[in-house]
Amino acid sequence: MPRSFLVVILLLLTSTVFAQHTQRCGHQISAQEKQLQQQFIPGYFGCNFINKHERTLQINAYIVLDSLGAPGFTEDQLNNALVTLNDDFEPSGLQFTICKITYIPNFQYNYFIDVEHEDQMTVEYYEPNTINVYFCFSVTRNGGIVCGYAYFPGGKDFIVLQKGCITDDNHVWSHEMGHFFGLYHTFETDLGVELVNGSNCETAGDIVCDTPADPDPDGNADQNMDCLYTGPTTQDSNGDWYIPPVNNIMSYYPDACVCKFTHQQYIRMIDQFLQFRNYLW
Ligand SMILES: [Zn+2]
Repeated sequence: MPRSFLVVILLLLTSTVFAQHTQRCGHQISAQEKQLQQQFIPGYFGCNFINKHERTLQINAYIVLDSLGAPGFTEDQLNNALVTLNDDFEPSGLQFTICKITYIPNFQYNYFIDVEHEDQMTVEYYEPNTINVYFCFSVTRNGGIVCGYAYFPGGKDFIVLQKGCITDDNHVWSHEMGHFFGLYHTFETDLGVELVNGSNCETAGDIVCDTPADPDPDGNADQNMDCLYTGPTTQDSNGDWYIPPVNNIMSYYPDACVCKFTHQQYIRMIDQFLQFRNYLW
């Protein structure tokens, strides 16, 4: 086989693997955020309507420049990503506007490492009471490269994103904004393993009941076959078959499958916003 052919195959394989994992993020909940969540009183989930809360929140966007002073992420890309973000949040009534774009002339932050750069960067570049969003070439969180991370309510008003993960047709920014407004991953097990029959959906998994139990933190779904879940875990402890939410923004399923938040995820985000982040401008 010619060498160039091998290279093409390798590149294709690499890009496929990358594409399948672009939802991956570095989210984790601190003790302080957990404590705040214990005070959380969920809203009323009974009726099929969303407690819409019309608010437009201010985003301070920071694009970190590389060593040659190039942004590597255009304002058009930023604005297009903002359109997707606002489309995803539209049913909640929460919308976002970019009040200012700041270019950060420190290429070290472009290779962002949480333990090395977060404290310093958020002292130098941070506007209180707004959502501060940083775009970096790479983002390292807990020792691993991720597409981004955000803090739950109670944490900093801060989201860091990898420039290469933000495209017009994915929901990475919305995923991180979901965490920012208190959404867990659909496959979360920190609070207990959610059962397929939904009997513990209010206390386990992502504690949202209209997102089916999701056993798969790796997001294995066949993009070429209607995004069917491909395992490996097929049944829960009751022997019920998993039908995970492969289309959910808070899952890790491939971008091609992911497209939405659910009704109760919107309710939870609004509740979390009103209780914990209502100070935002
Ligand atoms: Zn996440």
